[in-house]
Amino acid sequence: MNLRRLLLSFVLVFTLLSSAVSASSFVYLTTTVDEIEASLPAEPVTVGFDVDDTVLFSSPGFYYAFSNTDGPNKTNKYGPKPLSSDLFWKDMSCDFDRFSMPKSSAREVIEMHKKRGDKIYFITARPPVKGEILTRELHREFKLEGQPSAVFSGKTSKAVFIKKYGLSLFYGDSDSDISEAHDAGIRAIRFLRSPISTNKSKYNPGKHGEIVLQNSEN
Ligand SMILES: [Mg+2]
Repeated sequence: MNLRRLLLSFVLVFTLLSSAVSASSFVYLTTTVDEIEASLPAEPVTVGFDVDDTVLFSSPGFYYAFSNTDGPNKTNKYGPKPLSSDLFWKDMSCDFDRFSMPKSSAREVIEMHKKRGDKIYFITARPPVKGEILTRELHREFKLEGQPSAVFSGKTSKAVFIKKYGLSLFYGDSDSDISEAHDAGIRAIRFLRSPISTNKSKYNPGKHGEIVLQNSEN
């Protein structure tokens, strides 16, 4: 009898623990472009956006990185770890961004900042490469003129550039976008990823207590 009760309580504790551990999603509040606009001071500010999965749906290039069989003997041309390949990053930022698509949610936010006369930085964690076309594509797609070139932060925390350029608000889809903006002492707003993005890692909206932009998957 006692053994049965003991076993039952083990089962109960195990069930409770496993449901707590598997609950990896966080509760968060959402916001709109109008609300963000209303929260800003009247005078222009400097803001920043992450690139991949925030303002651009760049999965086509990343998909090719993992799926191609264009190397010798139909192997992956970037080797077993495409994201560690210098050649891949060169191809991505100097060529494949021709196939990256702007997100409509980003268009709305950027348009709002543009109208206010804000300075708009793009800060990507991609490694720096010579001959990038990312800046050109971003400025063309979002109709930006006189804005700074895209910043390729590589292995350096984005916090360094957020401070260096005096940003007061940063937008991003990855957990690190939010935590690094917080490290720099500024507000961060989360963009949701497209459900068909190839990037599934480090993505826990609400993890750092940040607000999420409504309908930002697209
Ligand atoms: Mg991103």
